[in-house]
Amino acid sequence: MKISKISIKEVIKNYESILFDSYGVLFDGKKPIDGSIELINYLNKINYNYFILTNDASITDDERSKSFINQGLNISSEKIISAGSLIFNFMKIENLMEKKCFIYGTNSIKDNLRDKGVKLLNENEMEKAEIIIFSDVEKWPTVDNLNNLLNFFYKKYSENKFVKIILPNPDIIYPLGNKSFNFGAAAFIDILEQAIFRIFGKNKQYKAIRLGKPYKMIFEIAKSRCKSNKIIMIGDQLETDILGANKVKIDSALVTTGINTTKKKITSEKIEKNLSPKYILNSIKL
Ligand SMILES: [Mg+2]
Repeated sequence: MKISKISIKEVIKNYESILFDSYGVLFDGKKPIDGSIELINYLNKINYNYFILTNDASITDDERSKSFINQGLNISSEKIISAGSLIFNFMKIENLMEKKCFIYGTNSIKDNLRDKGVKLLNENEMEKAEIIIFSDVEKWPTVDNLNNLLNFFYKKYSENKFVKIILPNPDIIYPLGNKSFNFGAAAFIDILEQAIFRIFGKNKQYKAIRLGKPYKMIFEIAKSRCKSNKIIMIGDQLETDILGANKVKIDSALVTTGINTTKKKITSEKIEKNLSPKYILNSIKL
């Protein structure tokens, strides 16, 4: 299937709401991507409806807004829909508010969830957990920690004590500056999951619940906050941004500034239909 090119001006003209991915589209992990500051200023000026959909779950939306503003990207926290903010939505929808949760994450995320009524356990109370949330894992993925976790789940599941795993951010990698990447939380949870499957069998109940893109929840929340149906998702990852947009039937444009900088992958005719964007956007410069 031929994928046509589109410019950012045409996007603004043809659509009424834009959903932006953050890393790889507006921000390269260290600094704003060329043209993003001007674009955001312009959209703010014309009062255009847009949201930032990010899988990052390591900080609160208020903190993210502050960090965007420090970088020159004038984005208020109401415009940010992060995988981290979905933890609360998910707990509420699934009636999990009374469950005891242990979270790997920053103090600000913990405070934020506690304020909303989530029952969080203290550092030394993991044994009591009915839910474990992996929100930020920057410090813990050592071999020792992974071994300890595996044995924690082994003990629980052997005793038929079910512990739900929630993984807000399903990204295996994320960009860090130009042409450099780090492993995301999902890389380590994938390993843990495989190990659990190996011991207890590949059973759906042992699978971590993944919240961010490409899963539907984040897109459904975004759709409900857009005032019209003329929505487009702009992202740099086929497997998250584009797949997710296709799942909820909204148009998408793939930028070539982020993870898919190797254009080989996008121009390949073999691209699977559900991963295929409607457009290619070579630059977000106005
Ligand atoms: Mg991205």
